[in-house]
Amino acid sequence: MPRIADTDLTALVAALLEKVGSAPTEAAQVAADLVAANLKGHDSHGVQLVPRYILNTEEGQITPNATVTRAFGEGPIGVFDGHMGFGQSTGRQVTAWAIETAKAQGIAMLGIRNTHHLGRIGAYAEQAAAAGMISLFFVNAVSGPPVVSPFGGMDGRMGTNPVCIGIPKGEAPLILDFATSAIAVGKVKVAFNAGKQVPPGALITHLGEPSTDPAVIYGPGPRGALGPFGAHKGYGLALICEILGGALTGGGTNPPADPARKAIVNGMFGFVLDPARMGSLPAFAAEVEGICRYVQESAFGHVLLPGDPERRTAHRRHDDGIPLDDVTWGDLVATATRLGVPVPATLEPAA
Ligand code: NAD
Repeated sequence: MPRIADTDLTALVAALLEKVGSAPTEAAQVAADLVAANLKGHDSHGVQLVPRYILNTEEGQITPNATVTRAFGEGPIGVFDGHMGFGQSTGRQVTAWAIETAKAQGIAMLGIRNTHHLGRIGAYAEQAAAAGMISLFFVNAVSGPPVVSPFGGMDGRMGTNPVCIGIPKGEAPLILDFATSAIAVGKVKVAFNAGKQVPPGALITHLGEPSTDPAVIYGPGPRGALGPFGAHKGYGLALICEILGGALTGGGTNPPADPARKAIVNGMFGFVLDPARMGSLPAFAAEVEGICRYVQESAFGHVLLPGDPERRTAHRRHDDGIPLDDVTWGDLVATATRLGVPVPATLEPAA
């Protein structure tokens, strides 16, 4: 399995994005966010998406260098149109607005519609936490035929619809960030590329039977579906994401208006809150430290906090390089060759 230094991978992705019209600043930022997802262990939301992003841009479904505009709301409430820009850019622009608004007014309620894929939502919670802000995001994903079945259902009706909450906590904020599907659909793709099975309980076939074979989504046969995580609870959260992320923002719920469209479209509702506006900041920080220490003392060294696995993986992958499956690396090399971008050497060769 090839391994690539994160700096080389970021430079490669930025160069590819520039080839399809992204300005150097945007290309560098989108590339950094994609590689950060790999660094943090979420390969589903990393560079395996690049060939698709490039195609979406070439097909006119992504607008490079888009600046978000406020479509609705006033004061601390803002619904923003992403003009189908790169989500890693539109998401950061709107989060920056929300942080500044929360600093001034205590809270910001945000919506984003009409944006391409926002990627790893934890990036925006980290952005808010770095500014000392609490954040909460509900996102719906509308791209092609819906892939997640409702609890008790037989076929896909919703997106993988992530929920994300960030709590500032010094250098190591709590970042709870997960898809409401049993696993992220990108992880099904990563397993498919790697020829692996997914954990039991994640997939159903087109007949509604349980399966661990990622081919039920990515194979040539009739399409199955992902189940929700946590039975009725994950299903309920996914439905709320459709309503807050899709209906409330005006971005739209599943199914997409044009199921043949290849773009990944997200709608996001959220808020950013300055904890200092809710009471004593030192008392809040002490309580956060206290409860985190208390839960970890249950089995010290074994109990992690949300955000810890990502920090650990990022540390390791920064030192050792980012492992990519052969299909992902092959697709990247093919895209680079087509666009005339030089490919960096790998730390460990491809098979
Ligand atoms: P996951 O199942 O790996 O869960 C990740 C979360 O659980 C993180 O907050 C992590 O810190 C925490 N966690 C993991 N192990 C832990 C442990 N032992 N103790 C404490 N906390 C632990 O995530 P996922 O559902 O596969 O989602 C992956 C990513 O996909 C997320 O970043 C999400 O935002 C992204 N996503 C994006 C979209 C989109 O449309 N943009 C859709 C779905 C998912």
